[in-house]
Amino acid sequence: MTGKPADPASEWALETRMVRGGIERSGHGETSEALFLNSGFVYETAADAEARFKGEQDGFVYSRYGNPTVAMFEERMRLLEGAEACFATGSGMAAVFAALMSQLKAGDRVVASRALFGSCHHILTQILPRYAIETVLVDGTDLDQWAEALKPGAAVVFLETPANPTLELIDLRAVSDLAHAAGAKVIVDNVFATPVLQRPMEHGVDIVVYSATKHIDGQGRVLGGVVLSSKDFVDNTLMPFLRHTGPALSPFNAWVMLKGLETLTLRVERMVENTAKVAALLSGQPGVARVIWPGADDFPQKALRERQMSGGGTLIAFEVAGGKAPAFRFLDRLRIIDISNNLGDSKSLITHPTTTTHRAMSAEDRARIGIDEGLLRLSVGLENPEDLKADLAQALAG
Ligand SMILES: *Cc1c(COP(=O)(O)O)cnc(C)c1O
Repeated sequence: MTGKPADPASEWALETRMVRGGIERSGHGETSEALFLNSGFVYETAADAEARFKGEQDGFVYSRYGNPTVAMFEERMRLLEGAEACFATGSGMAAVFAALMSQLKAGDRVVASRALFGSCHHILTQILPRYAIETVLVDGTDLDQWAEALKPGAAVVFLETPANPTLELIDLRAVSDLAHAAGAKVIVDNVFATPVLQRPMEHGVDIVVYSATKHIDGQGRVLGGVVLSSKDFVDNTLMPFLRHTGPALSPFNAWVMLKGLETLTLRVERMVENTAKVAALLSGQPGVARVIWPGADDFPQKALRERQMSGGGTLIAFEVAGGKAPAFRFLDRLRIIDISNNLGDSKSLITHPTTTTHRAMSAEDRARIGIDEGLLRLSVGLENPEDLKADLAQALAG
C-alpha cells in the first residue's frame, strides 16, 4: 500500500512517471527495479518487530500486506492515475471483488450498468444477493434509469465504460453526480479505456479498478489487478479487507507489470493508431453489418467520448452479417489475428462473445445490450496495421 504525500514525481510528465515513478533502489544501485521475491521480513530487534506491528515504524511485515517490488508497482500506478492511494491484487477480479466487498454489508443496494465483463456480472447478480445485497441493473447510457434506480439510495455504483463488448460509453460525471446525491460511492472498471486514455477520478469517480493483466502487462504473461482511491478509503476500508482475505499480487508479477508500465503509453498510443486504421478498413467491407469504435467520426456518443477519453481505445466491436456460422467461418480463416478471450495484448486477439465471454448471460440479457450472434470483439495489437487489414480482408472475402 502506498499513499505518500505529493513528491516531485507527481509533477513529471506521464511518460517520465511510467519509466521512473515509484523506484526504490535497494542500495546496490541496480538500474532496473529489484525483484524482492520474498514472503517474510526480519527485524533487528524484538522492539523493532513490536514497533512495526504497531505501525509506529515504517517497513514491511509480510508480503500479503506489502512487498518492496509490489510497492513500486503500486506507486507507479498511483502516479499514473493521479490517485491518493493504490493497492495491488493477484488478478483484476480480486480487485473488483475487494472494491465491492470491502465496503458492502447485508441490506445494502448496488446500482450497476448492465453491460459488464462476465465475471463482474456474476459477482453482482449471483454472489452479492447471497449476502442480502441487492443489485439493480440499468442501461448505463440512460441517465433517467440511473436516477430512478438511485432514488431509494444506494451504497455503491459500479460501471464499466466503454462497456464490454458493445463499447457504449457511460457519462462518468453525470452518473457520479447522481450517485453522490444518493449517498453512493462510484467504482469504475477502467480496463477497456486504459489508464492512458481515461482518468475516471477527474470526472468525479471515487474508486478505479483495473485488470492489470490487460494493457498494463499487455504481453500475455501475468495476472494482476489494482484498486485506486482516496487514502482514507484504501487505508481504512480496502486494506483491512485485503490484508485478511489475502488476494495479494505476487512480487514477480508486480515486477513484470513494472516493466509493462515503462512502455504502456507507447504501446497504447500505437495500438490506438492501429485500431483507427483497422476500424476504417472494416467499415468499408461487404459482409460487415456494423462497426463500433468509439474513436470513429460517426460514433453516436462522439461528444461524450471527447469529454472523457483522450482516444478511441484499442477495441473494436463489429458484426459479421448472417450470424454465428459466417462469424465462425471468418474467425477460422484468420491467419495472424488469434482467437482468444484476452484483450489489450501486443498480439491482436478476437473473440465471439456470445459463445465465450458472454455465454453465461441469458439470450434476453444479451439482446438487451446489443450482443447478437454475429458480433465479434477485436483487440488490436502492435503488428503492422497493413498486415492486420490484409488478414481481415482475406478472411472476410473467403
Ligand atoms: C479481464 C477483465 C477483468 C478481470 O481481470 P482478470 O485479471 O482476468 O481477473 C475485469 N474487468 C474487465 C473489463 C476485464 O477486461
